[in-house]
Amino acid sequence: MTPRRGPRGANLGQLGTFNQAVVLHAIRTAPGVSRVEIGELTGLAGQTVTNICRRLLRDGLIREGEPVAAGQGKPRTPLSIDAAARYAVGVHIDPALTTLVLLDLAGLTVATDRFATPVAPDAVATVTAVGERVLSFVAAADVPRERILGVGVATPGPVDVARGVVDNPPHLPGWRQVPVRAELERVVGLPVQLEKDVVAAATAEIWAGTFASATSAALIYLGTGIGAGLVVNGEVLRGASNNAGELGQIVVDQGGEQCRCGQRGCTKVIISAEEMVRQSGDGSSPSSLVELDAELRRLYDRADAGEEHALEVVHSSAVAMVRAALLVTNLLDVERLVLGGPYWTRMSPYFFTVAPAMFAEHAAAHDIHPVELLDTTVGEHLAAVGAASLVLDRTYSPRPGTLVIAPSPRTT
Ligand SMILES: [Zn+2]
Repeated sequence: MTPRRGPRGANLGQLGTFNQAVVLHAIRTAPGVSRVEIGELTGLAGQTVTNICRRLLRDGLIREGEPVAAGQGKPRTPLSIDAAARYAVGVHIDPALTTLVLLDLAGLTVATDRFATPVAPDAVATVTAVGERVLSFVAAADVPRERILGVGVATPGPVDVARGVVDNPPHLPGWRQVPVRAELERVVGLPVQLEKDVVAAATAEIWAGTFASATSAALIYLGTGIGAGLVVNGEVLRGASNNAGELGQIVVDQGGEQCRCGQRGCTKVIISAEEMVRQSGDGSSPSSLVELDAELRRLYDRADAGEEHALEVVHSSAVAMVRAALLVTNLLDVERLVLGGPYWTRMSPYFFTVAPAMFAEHAAAHDIHPVELLDTTVGEHLAAVGAASLVLDRTYSPRPGTLVIAPSPRTT
């Protein structure tokens, strides 16, 4: 793989911490890269790269491989991330299921756990119970606790990121002003970062390199609801309050079903698991999210088997999802659109049956550039992996302003 030119460093002393992140980024995204190549990728002076690499080696964040002969010049020493140097915990609290992952510094998942979101007398007690699961998860993972940077937690929005509070998401009844961050920090004893699930999911794809060469990209997340993570120049577009990407209330069928919001044909009315199951006409609506999940699976089974009515329901959801995807694509002039989320896998073949023709006809810039439509590369634990990626991202991404390099307090 030819290393792609990544974020550029700055040859100024006060930017030492930033440059360290730039070098770490280069090594992470191009394993086996040499100091000379890092200089070429980042634009940093040779001596700066050498100094930073010495510090990263001293801190155990990277390691050297065996030197390899390189033409007539000095042998080049390949550098790579020491994956076991640091870890981050990711928590995805979904209305039905909670997922935990442990990510290493290379961004690989080393442990996962998934369980029914605890039923408790109130929302805070639910978060407490999740925190206790995190504690036993971390203990079982057998990783030195001092190497765990923190916990990222993804929940449905709206979230108040600054205060670490989740406030009244549509599918979490009773979750009003819930101090998720404070409660998890109290129980787990590690720093906690809260983000909306789609922001986390988009971050996971960024860390996986899915959006590497795209200046404008998006992730559509199909879970209990539907949302979009918008990515511009490699960064998630968060909006004024970190709640950007609400796709559910966008009208995609003006003659469609009445939505609780008062409009007709909102995306969520057509695509949500609840509505799909209701339209499939199995009689009464499911009494729990677990049951809803099972009903939805049965609906897809029937559609996969070619049953006409089930096919109609799934097909019209796929069309609505393409319309929502087109809207995002045209709004941001997206060149790469990634789709994922817990309900995506079953929807995927239906989406891809209708998407190419609709995109050819309705994507505004279609004649100028193609729009790549891709399945998630991160997999089913997308939001949890993203939550952990947020912690790594905040600590190690070359982004002036938000950067906190751990653990070395010194700057060049
Ligand atoms: Zn609506």
